[in-house]
Amino acid sequence: MSVPPKKLEKKVWCALEVTVEVAAREAVEYGLTDAGSLGTETSTTDERFILITGYFDQFPDSERMRNELFEALRIYDLPNSSVREIKMREVEDRDWLAEWKKDFESIPPASAGGSSEAPIVIHINPGMAFGTGTHETTRLCLKAIEKYFRGGSFLDVGTGTGILAIAASKMFSDAHIAACDIDAEAIAIAKENARLNNVEDRINFRVGSVDEQTPSADLVSANLTAPVIVELVPLLLVVSCGRLILSGILDSQIEMVQSRLQELGAADLEFSSDSEWMSIVV
Ligand code: SAH
Repeated sequence: MSVPPKKLEKKVWCALEVTVEVAAREAVEYGLTDAGSLGTETSTTDERFILITGYFDQFPDSERMRNELFEALRIYDLPNSSVREIKMREVEDRDWLAEWKKDFESIPPASAGGSSEAPIVIHINPGMAFGTGTHETTRLCLKAIEKYFRGGSFLDVGTGTGILAIAASKMFSDAHIAACDIDAEAIAIAKENARLNNVEDRINFRVGSVDEQTPSADLVSANLTAPVIVELVPLLLVVSCGRLILSGILDSQIEMVQSRLQELGAADLEFSSDSEWMSIVV
């Protein structure tokens, strides 16, 4: 997300206004984000159509934009005719911070390619918390959740914006989801994001960390840092009765985490990487 420059002269944003059938909302939000939109805003026009505005620094190439939108519709199995009109206009900077709070980043799915299933779109207002879905460590977790979560129970240790817990709750509507963070502000933001995604009743949020009283879960994610993981991993292993995802590890720190796991007798490790970041599934 880019912060608008300090105002000496008024900044102008390029707004792409797409009128679409209501059913194509997620697809078009996803397509706009994929095409580089810095934020999207959705308003209702009538029962059948909605207006989705994507804000860009510069007008996107119209040919590329159409292709991105049609590709998004294809992924969602919707016809191109779902888009009724595309308009471009310039918008003068308003009280951008106030406006921005009304926008939420639409997070593309963990892996859009290859799957014919419609991707899950998550709306995240990052506030002061970590986790918009664009960071490598979060992406590694989302991919592992997509691969290993088969319903049942999920625990997100260090939930930040709540993104992983929200994703898991959207994958399985009857799963039991819990999330904790030592930062009370992050928990407040995560609860608000859960509400935006209509899953606020599905996730048990708590300020704190894992301890001996924490109920176990089929899948546990811990996107923390290597030193915190090394400290918490004995408890994390006890709490996870299926798989444990460890992320937030720089490749230079991987041996430190790996040798701690070996000391604790954890075997069958799966390693993944995204630029200089690594994750381990135990
Ligand atoms: N799960 C999110 C956010 C990860 S950032 C994502 O994947 O994008 C890591 C979060 O862990 C921060 O919000 C931080 O406050 C929290 N945290 C740090 N140490 C912790 C600990 N010991 N127990 C629980 N949460 C912790």
